[in-house]
Amino acid sequence: MFHDASKSPTKLKARPITRKWTIVGCLDFAAYLFIVGAMISASPPGHAASADFRAGAAMVDITPTNFPIRTAGNLVITVANKAIDPLNVRALVLDDGRKQVAIAVVDSCMVDREAIDAAKAAARRVTGIPIERMLISSTHTHTAPAAYSCHGNDAEPDYVEFLIPRIAQAIIEAWRNRVPARVGWGKGECPQFVHCRRWIMQPGTAQNPPVAFTGQATNLAMMNPGFGNTNKIRQTGPVDTAVTVLSVQTADGKPLGLLANYSTHYAGVSEAGLSADYFGEFCRVMAKELGVEEGKPFVALMSNGTSGDANCVDFTKPNWKNDRFMVARAVADAALEALKAARYQEWVPLAMVEQKRAFKVRRPSRKDVAAARDYLAKNVGDRPIRTWEENYARETVKMADWPTRKEIKLQALRIGDFAIGTTPCETYGSTGLAIKQASPFSLTMVIELANGCNGYLPPPDQFELGGYTTWRARSSYLEIGAEPKIRDSVVSLLKRIDKDKKPRSK
Ligand SMILES: [Zn+2]
Repeated sequence: MFHDASKSPTKLKARPITRKWTIVGCLDFAAYLFIVGAMISASPPGHAASADFRAGAAMVDITPTNFPIRTAGNLVITVANKAIDPLNVRALVLDDGRKQVAIAVVDSCMVDREAIDAAKAAARRVTGIPIERMLISSTHTHTAPAAYSCHGNDAEPDYVEFLIPRIAQAIIEAWRNRVPARVGWGKGECPQFVHCRRWIMQPGTAQNPPVAFTGQATNLAMMNPGFGNTNKIRQTGPVDTAVTVLSVQTADGKPLGLLANYSTHYAGVSEAGLSADYFGEFCRVMAKELGVEEGKPFVALMSNGTSGDANCVDFTKPNWKNDRFMVARAVADAALEALKAARYQEWVPLAMVEQKRAFKVRRPSRKDVAAARDYLAKNVGDRPIRTWEENYARETVKMADWPTRKEIKLQALRIGDFAIGTTPCETYGSTGLAIKQASPFSLTMVIELANGCNGYLPPPDQFELGGYTTWRARSSYLEIGAEPKIRDSVVSLLKRIDKDKKPRSK
């Protein structure tokens, strides 16, 4: 068990929601927009006279209290006996006087839809913020307790129970902490630590577990081929080098919150234990650089962009070095640069939409499952898996009873002329760049592993190259054609909330 009375979250008691505006109290929102829409789009700051823009931030510790604990993100079973640095849920609530939106980022490798929906429901009961206006994503640190069963590490059920109320608590506290605020945004660049980790290899030299266990006949691409591997030819796709930042200040200009986004996988730690990786370190560096203490009341959130095919390592440089401190420092420098250009606005409109879409699952056939069962009985028995081959045999068996379709959630969120699009998948850099390019907003952030975790999302042409991210498992199972459909849906959602139809400024 992970419960510790001293760390118990606030009891989730209903609290009345006070509405600042009364003009529209008895009108539905569409009618309200029709009546005053022109006024809002013509002069947003003027609206501040009747409704303040408010924001609040909060962070809640989610470091487990019981060890040892299985961690996520590794092929073979990995157990942590201590925490190197704290894990947190970090939340931001924005309120334009008409609508409230909540954004939370969890120091976890992946959290599934069920747990996230439970946290949202608990937060809604207290705050009244509709579930479709809550965005909860995972940082994808690979040194957090397993909250989703995948590869060699099954989820720790007690930890998931511990996590759910704490995610809700972070949103509730951020909502309670709301004060008059202003927002600005900007974009920096940090090409140093984002590199495509998939390489096209000389024929016959890429890793190739038996086809029956991965569903992938051709494998020309290989992940992390190594520095000295002379069989690597070229990387399989582009990466997104942007550091995108939304900054929130109090009405008198003091740092209140910050949501950043960068598209690299994780940096890793040099000793065994739990860590929020560079995501947590970035938040600490930003607080220090801005001259404030974390959580009092400033909180930074570092979300993962589109890093499904990217990591920190440049395999063209044999003496390459990176660690979480180096990555955090470089990304923080880019974020600080971005903030210099931020123009703060006293009031901006908020809008958020959500779409649920179902996709076919690449399920193993009965024959595949029988072959995998036979293989595991002969070669593995009750011991933990040790090799890629054993892992994919196990994944095949684990997916035997999966449904033929899975529903996923997509979202788009607007904060003035700054937008966020989300996917619940480990999304490729090319997808993120395409969404940003097609977005009608002047600056767009794309957050992956948001509102669930539905595996890797390789574009269809990447399935032709094969490699780890295409191999069928609980980490990669959506239909081959899912990526263009998801990309188009996110762009459509962004266009739907672009009521002002502002031209792109860059
Ligand atoms: Zn990963």
